[in-house]
Amino acid sequence: MKNLDFRKRAHEMADWIADYLDGVESYPVMSLAKPGDVLDQLPVDPPEEGEGFDEIFKNFNDIIIPGMTHWQHPSFFAYFPANSSRISVLAEMLTAALGAQCMIWQTSPAATELEECVMEWLRKMLGLPEGFSGVIQDTASTSTLCSILTARELFTGFSSGSSGMIGKNGPFTTYCSAEAHSSVEKSVKIAGLSSGLLRKIPVDENFAMLPDRLDEAVEKDKRSGYSPLCTVATIGTTSSTAVDPIGKVGEVCSKHKVWFHVDAAFAGSALILPEKRWMIQGIEHVDTFVFNPHKWMFTNFDCSAYFVKDPSLLIRTFEILPEYLKTGVESRVKNFRDWGVPLGRRFRALKLWFVIRHYGVEGLRCKIKKHISMAGELLKKMQKEDGFEVLAPVPLNAICFRYRPRGMENGDELNRLNSTLLEKLNESGELYMTHTKLDGKYTIRMVIGQTEVKERHVEKAWERIKRTAREVGGE
Ligand code: PLP
Repeated sequence: MKNLDFRKRAHEMADWIADYLDGVESYPVMSLAKPGDVLDQLPVDPPEEGEGFDEIFKNFNDIIIPGMTHWQHPSFFAYFPANSSRISVLAEMLTAALGAQCMIWQTSPAATELEECVMEWLRKMLGLPEGFSGVIQDTASTSTLCSILTARELFTGFSSGSSGMIGKNGPFTTYCSAEAHSSVEKSVKIAGLSSGLLRKIPVDENFAMLPDRLDEAVEKDKRSGYSPLCTVATIGTTSSTAVDPIGKVGEVCSKHKVWFHVDAAFAGSALILPEKRWMIQGIEHVDTFVFNPHKWMFTNFDCSAYFVKDPSLLIRTFEILPEYLKTGVESRVKNFRDWGVPLGRRFRALKLWFVIRHYGVEGLRCKIKKHISMAGELLKKMQKEDGFEVLAPVPLNAICFRYRPRGMENGDELNRLNSTLLEKLNESGELYMTHTKLDGKYTIRMVIGQTEVKERHVEKAWERIKRTAREVGGE
């Protein structure tokens, strides 16, 4: 092992980080690496002797950085963002330095109690019902899994975890819309519920779940001897940010006594705007709710905020108390190890605390409002531009579109053209967008949600989109 002058190196790293974030626009947004490019440069065997920091850091710059896609680039319009912020990075530096494993209250009382505090702040900020309790999970996938596992336990008298599913009330059916995120299906599989019994309910012309069709599906399943277990509705679907009607879906769930989980992974952040609270009209029907501050609340990945109406059900699902974890204060504190899958827990509350205090709720509202208004402005331009077709409503900040040159009607040809268009745009390194399919149409998605995105980035992207579309369209 070589000597490490930690203080000197820490200062250098701080400078590197500041320079990187200030200059992130100079990198191609999407990495232009080809498969194997990075691996080919890495030694097959680990070093026998320790290496010097200069050598390691040189390799970081030369090998790793070219293989990175720059998620904090203001022209990152792909997927949903994982937007961080400088204040969140500072908090993450402290978290790394503390290196605490916050599995139970005693292993860091401040981590548990700060998590209680910031989750209650978030509940109020989003307008979620009083009495909901929050816990931080790593991702929305995990939160949805926790919800479905809780439903499974509740519907089997809290015995399937200990004595298996055989002979229980099932076979259980689960429900989500045809536009729900793949994590729902994954959770159903992991929970030991058949993904073949996950009913994908049809959507309306706005890609939102049809509650009448949900009702019909549940009725039919009951008549056929199935036990309907759980519905997952989405606020802000991945493809087009469609919003399932929570109130109506909730009424169906209440009528049939079906567990109700809401996945608002991306769009939940917009609930800090009172004018967007229509999205949770009917929230009183909901058992559990998740949104990710790591997507659209300027908090480093990972940070998923999971809220439950009745924490005792969650705890009964996950609680396990071996001798070596007993502390004697169990009855007086929260032990978040019992609120989810892993025992070990990072100190994630710290970055949320820094972010919320730094921006203030009003500062966060301003940023999110700005993203939505930039998307609205671009939408107007796109609707006026010859050859561009908007393929879904834009309730927030994601625009789904395709290029359709005059006279081109063939669906396959249009799909190919738009796939080529997206490839060319991303290869330019100037912006990064991704695609989906809506009604079988190849759809380009542009999500305007980066922490530092400004009008000029959107304008530059739009100019390039128009120019490249005309080129690939042969005009
Ligand atoms: N739910 C929705 C609606 C999403 O869009 C996504 C990811 O984009 C997820 C869940 C999964 O999120 P995570 O990566 O936090 O598991």
